[in-house]
Amino acid sequence: MRLRFAPSPTGLLHVGNARTALFNWLLARGRGGTFVLRVEDTDVERSTRASEDSIKDDLRWLGLTWDEGPDVGGPYPPYRQSERMVRYSLAADRLIAAGRAYYCFCSSEQLEQERAAALAVGLPPKYSGRCRTLDPQDAARRRAGGEAAALRFAVPTDRDVTFPDVVRGNVTFHTSVIGDPVIVRSDGGPAYNFAVVVDDAEMAITHVIRGEDHISNTPRQVLIYEALGRTPPTFAHLSLVLGPDHAPLSKRHGATSVAEFRARGYLPEALINYLALLGWSPGDGEELMAADEMARRFALARVSHSAAVFDTEKLAWINRHYMKQSPPAHLASLVAPWFVAAGFVAGSNSEALESIEAVLPMAVGVVDRLEEVPARVSFVFAWDAAAAAQLVAAEPDGAKVMHAFAEAIADAGPLTKESFRAAAARTREVTGVKGRALFHPIRVAMTGWESGPELDLALPAIDRVAGLFPAVPACAARARQLGN
Ligand code: GLU
Repeated sequence: MRLRFAPSPTGLLHVGNARTALFNWLLARGRGGTFVLRVEDTDVERSTRASEDSIKDDLRWLGLTWDEGPDVGGPYPPYRQSERMVRYSLAADRLIAAGRAYYCFCSSEQLEQERAAALAVGLPPKYSGRCRTLDPQDAARRRAGGEAAALRFAVPTDRDVTFPDVVRGNVTFHTSVIGDPVIVRSDGGPAYNFAVVVDDAEMAITHVIRGEDHISNTPRQVLIYEALGRTPPTFAHLSLVLGPDHAPLSKRHGATSVAEFRARGYLPEALINYLALLGWSPGDGEELMAADEMARRFALARVSHSAAVFDTEKLAWINRHYMKQSPPAHLASLVAPWFVAAGFVAGSNSEALESIEAVLPMAVGVVDRLEEVPARVSFVFAWDAAAAAQLVAAEPDGAKVMHAFAEAIADAGPLTKESFRAAAARTREVTGVKGRALFHPIRVAMTGWESGPELDLALPAIDRVAGLFPAVPACAARARQLGN
């Protein structure tokens, strides 16, 4: 089994395309197949190496590694279409020799007029076939005289083209609705429908899984396979990824690229797991699965043809799950850049990672994304003494409680859960204040906030971080400042 992901490097990797890559990868990995990355960069104006690099970077981040591709090579090089031009021209020559392709001299104005005329009478626009009947020798003369011409594929007249689609069953188009497609543009560049066939055939691709926006291209491709004497691969067209309003997922729905989800602090395991469920389910209600388990269980037969609506809430739920599952030291290193950006730590050094690990338990299970972690624990790194003082003053027993609490922890050293509880008990004994009237002043004093993480998590975390960063006041210092 040989599968491929064939991105056009014209921008960032869209999550819909990432899902396409994932389904190909899952099938390849689950069946001992080969996963090929082919860069479809024949649109010279829009393709960039920076886009190719970012797509590869995102695929690697998602863990979707490829066995053959532009950087790793493989038995069917090269893996970038712009480097395969000679193969397209050889294939084009074969089609011309077989009378299956012809030169078209129509100007873009002519083609535009035809299009407009068809649309005006409510017909789907389709090339008229005007140049199909030109005498090949005349055509050759005109080309030799310097006239620009595109090469078109001659679609057979009046027959059905049927291809089996694993997701949708048999799909049939009548050739009367298919205009002769351009296969080589007048600038010499191969068109997508042609290059994709030459490459999939030459790279021995057995299964093509891609978005359903390519369904109408497929009959053209099937006809080109036939004309080249090649067997088409097995096709599976995935339904589009839609936004909550059932329009194709786009910028106005929010994040659409893998890079954006990454920047917002979703874990790759979570995004992969979520994307797999957009159209596939293992069939037993199971939803949380690691990539290798999904690969083991993945089958095209269980891919749905109904539209997949992107559900940010569900993605958040899955992300919370994977944040809880991650070893704390690993999670600390993943979230460190956001702490640096917040100005809480200077870089990912060992003190920084240790302090982040100390505060993580207050955020994991509570926030949806890594990006949200620093704000949840900012009271540790950026304690607002003035706000805290004001809140303490607003509490009926605030001054009394804080005075006693400051004394109770003055010599306790860095607080632990136990020593904090002992200090709270001592404060209650001394003041006679208990329950919320006791704990709330401590909370507002230590954090500057009316609500937040459990105190027996928060106070030891403050002291661990204070031990690593002298600029961060420890609980004893905070209490002393407010208890006098
Ligand atoms: N380069 C095409 C795209 O990104 C590939 C389509 C295909 O898989 O055939 O849409």
